[in-house]
Amino acid sequence: MRHYQLFIDGEFVDSVSRQTFDSINPFNQEVVAKVARGNTEDAQRGVAAARKAFDEGPWPRMPREERASFLKAISDKINEKQKDLVALEVLDSGSTVRKAKEDIYLSARNMHSFSKMAALDLTENIEGLSKPGFSQNFLVREPVGVVGAIIPWNFPLKMAIWKIGPALAAGNTVVLKPSELTPCTAMELATIIREAGIPKGVVNIVPGFGEDAGEEIVKSPLVDKVSFTGSTAVGRKVMALASQHLKKVTLECGGKSANIVLDDADLNLAVDGAMYAIFYHQGQCCEAGTRLFLPKTTYDEFMDKLIAKTKKLKLGDPNDVATDLGPLISKRQQDRVLGYIAEGKEQGAHVTVGGSVPTEPSLSKGFFVEPTVFTNVDNAMKIAQEEIFGPVLAVIQYSSVDEAVALANRSIYGLGGGVWSKDKVRAMDVARRLRAGTVWVNEWHLISEKAPFGGYKQSGIGREFGLDGLKEYTEAKHVHVDELGSREKKFWYDTVVPK
Ligand code: NAD
Repeated sequence: MRHYQLFIDGEFVDSVSRQTFDSINPFNQEVVAKVARGNTEDAQRGVAAARKAFDEGPWPRMPREERASFLKAISDKINEKQKDLVALEVLDSGSTVRKAKEDIYLSARNMHSFSKMAALDLTENIEGLSKPGFSQNFLVREPVGVVGAIIPWNFPLKMAIWKIGPALAAGNTVVLKPSELTPCTAMELATIIREAGIPKGVVNIVPGFGEDAGEEIVKSPLVDKVSFTGSTAVGRKVMALASQHLKKVTLECGGKSANIVLDDADLNLAVDGAMYAIFYHQGQCCEAGTRLFLPKTTYDEFMDKLIAKTKKLKLGDPNDVATDLGPLISKRQQDRVLGYIAEGKEQGAHVTVGGSVPTEPSLSKGFFVEPTVFTNVDNAMKIAQEEIFGPVLAVIQYSSVDEAVALANRSIYGLGGGVWSKDKVRAMDVARRLRAGTVWVNEWHLISEKAPFGGYKQSGIGREFGLDGLKEYTEAKHVHVDELGSREKKFWYDTVVPK
């Protein structure tokens, strides 16, 4: 079992209350780590350290290339510690080892990409306004200040990197609160940050719960921006709390992404793609393809293949490379998913595969739910409208592409979407009509550091990744430099100033 303290102002310290909480392995319920429980006062200590590092420390003022080299060092160290981080992510989050390997590899790669962004000069000459002899006009991008970052449990290290990376690249300082369910790799990241020589107070990591540490970070007048990833329900709360100081917010929230198979799709590819879209990480992905729209013409053939393949998915020990689906994160999440399955049945949908907790004795201590496929689903049903965050697919038949697009857009969410077709022109037309931040054609789950990622509607506000994502961590400043010189040439010469 590991022990973790808070990481504040470059030091590992106990919480003021000396309280700890246990992080549990969702496969066998063993304690993975005892973690210091950061409360309100601890969050304030983290915020104060980040404030001081921003106002007085070298980080926001150092040359861009130097900041970039620090971020590159973090990336290199994640690579060096890859094996340990993979093992820890599996234990702490129930991620299959196959997914965890990808997560840790991508955490390092994403940080490397943020290090390159840190070196970019974002200053622009404002074309059309600058005119020799009149004025020069610059758009200067400056860090926002202290960033409060709050993350969920489904991609623990990756989410920490997605917050810390761009915030630091733009010159901000950070207070991060990892999820109380998966704090371990974020705390290992604290060690990496120390080893990489990042100046004290630039990154502070306060593990703890939403209602005390989380809310304090959001409410603190010393925090300039909140970057939150989590459920839409908590996102609404975060936005309301942040409004007290008109704090800037980036919200990356829930989804109910629509996956539309057109009648000319390669069926074998689309079946595999639909399974990857929903069952990857047991359906605990924000942009999972949870609603599958099938044309009536190919419905039977598609469903025969989908059902046969879903039955072959292997639930098991996440450490076993043969395992396709591990446990859900917690008993609470397992109960929530089972609750949705019961409601789906009550509302008249049919469970075609799965629908229960597996009975194998070897899985009895894990929070498992079978991969579940619902048919006879109406898009208005709860299982088609609410984010379940488990391995539950709602299949909906459609008669025309217009109907499929209309149903797909009938949702409060707009995070991801997908179209399967051999005809790129048809697919692009549907992609454009979907009200979602990312749409894949014949693909799913591909998120790149080079492209913006985020939600339409109640899936969020703002973007992560790409230059748009970096700019979320900057303030835009207009600097006007006069070139007229003499007083007489000024446009205000005749207005208020006496001659
Ligand atoms: P959650 O909203 O319950 O918690 C997210 C984080 O917020 C946790 O660290 C939690 O402690 C904290 N929190 C809870 N209440 C808070 C409060 N009142 N004030 C401040 N912080 C508070 O979400 P979760 O269950 O951890 O994660 C699953 C959710 O995250 C899903 O809805 C999923 O769609 C979403 N998610 C979105 C993205 C995205 O990029 N859009 C990515 C991953 C996960």
